[in-house]
Amino acid sequence: MSAYSRGQSVIVLGGGIIGLSCALEAALRGHRVTLAEPGRIGGQASGAAAGMLAPYSENPEGADAFFRLSLGSLRLYPEWIRSVEEISGMSVEWERSGSLNILQHEADLLPAEGRMRWQNGWGAGAELIDKDELRGLEPALAEEAVGAVYIPEESHVYAPKLVEALASACKRTGVQILEHAGTIESVHRSDIGGSRIAMSGLPALLAADRVVLCPGAWSSAYEQHLGLNLPVHPIRGQICSYLSPAQWREPLRHIVFTSQAYWVSKRNGTVVCGASEDVAGYETSVTEHGIGRLTRATDRFLPDLRGVKPAFGWAGLRPATPDGMPLIGAAGGEGEWLMAAGHYRNGILLSPATGRLIADLLDGEPDEKTLGGLAPFAPARFTARQGSKQATAGHIY
Ligand SMILES: Cc1cc2nc3c(=O)[nH]c(=O)nc-3n(C[C@H](O)[C@H](O)[C@H](O)COP(=O)(O)OP(=O)(O)OC[C@H]3O[C@@H](n4cnc5c(N)ncnc54)[C@H](O)[C@@H]3O)c2cc1C
Repeated sequence: MSAYSRGQSVIVLGGGIIGLSCALEAALRGHRVTLAEPGRIGGQASGAAAGMLAPYSENPEGADAFFRLSLGSLRLYPEWIRSVEEISGMSVEWERSGSLNILQHEADLLPAEGRMRWQNGWGAGAELIDKDELRGLEPALAEEAVGAVYIPEESHVYAPKLVEALASACKRTGVQILEHAGTIESVHRSDIGGSRIAMSGLPALLAADRVVLCPGAWSSAYEQHLGLNLPVHPIRGQICSYLSPAQWREPLRHIVFTSQAYWVSKRNGTVVCGASEDVAGYETSVTEHGIGRLTRATDRFLPDLRGVKPAFGWAGLRPATPDGMPLIGAAGGEGEWLMAAGHYRNGILLSPATGRLIADLLDGEPDEKTLGGLAPFAPARFTARQGSKQATAGHIY
């Protein structure tokens, strides 16, 4: 893949946080980038997210390739945010809050200590907090929280602002952003290299040397184009937020995780509470059942909010894969087509790492040292297991 050089033309398809991160990094490395989004930039999962950057809390089982990528991405965040904020001139409200994983029973202690042991081996700096200390750290928490694991490195951003800042940074770096570009009507690869793409909302064909697919939960739409199995499924996440009530002792200072829900206080005074997981196809409405689960957990753990109705409720579609790993890497046409999708619950966290890996692939230099090998994330891995799809006639792959 070292045949590729800087200064190529690149089409990024999909305008969620993953597409925007890939587009920005590619443009910063000197490529000419066009990003086409069928609908509204950030209008799907990325705009719905709680914005937590929590690789330890999200990976309690062990240090697999996914955890290593997540941690590598968290450690890219300080420099990445600095650059996004500087280029865009906008704040993404990054709060280095730390997180508290609540222990509800004495019996939770032993597994928590086991987790802390391996996580501290990776620099988590996790500490056990007893009931009294917890009360001091978070006075609004209910008495039934008997302790917590405090992880100082975990933090959160305001996801809609991050999307907005990334889109602005992309434009200021020369990325052409085409919103409401409609559906993909045809894809052709020229005999002399490069691809041409027709989209229903665009008057002219898009043409470029390389294509980066970032279609989130819609990735399987490309199975026929690429001749690959791309089993990415939408898992609906319902989420809500409360306005700070008059009786609210003080905003939560940390991200608070329990087995039933999590809570994050945002700078605009709201408390975000997420998130359910259910299979509802491409439906993004909220249900009484989904939000009810969150309000019951809130009533239980945050007595100041007991009986208060959430002011807002919304939902997004997490792009899930069968093995829980994203698809990042070459996806066809001898490396001309790349893919970055299937980030499930951690796409906000994984944005800087994904942008960097895709830009490395565009330049022909995947950075294995910083972020580990790409093999576990190969987009073709499900094709090797299940046999390939027939590529669509008229398309090249
Ligand atoms: C309720 C909820 C809470 C979450 N909280 C967190 C969190 O706290 N931290 C975290 O790290 N992650 C979180 N996530 C996960 C995170 O939001 C996702 O992993 C991330 O947004 C995925 O980004 P994406 O760009 O791949 O997908 P999306 O944001 O869904 O973007 C994909 C884009 O592709 C477009 N598209 C559709 N069809 C096509 C097509 N055929 N071709 C090209 N493009 C197409 C869509 O219109 C869409 O804009 C949460 C998700 C949800 C739903």
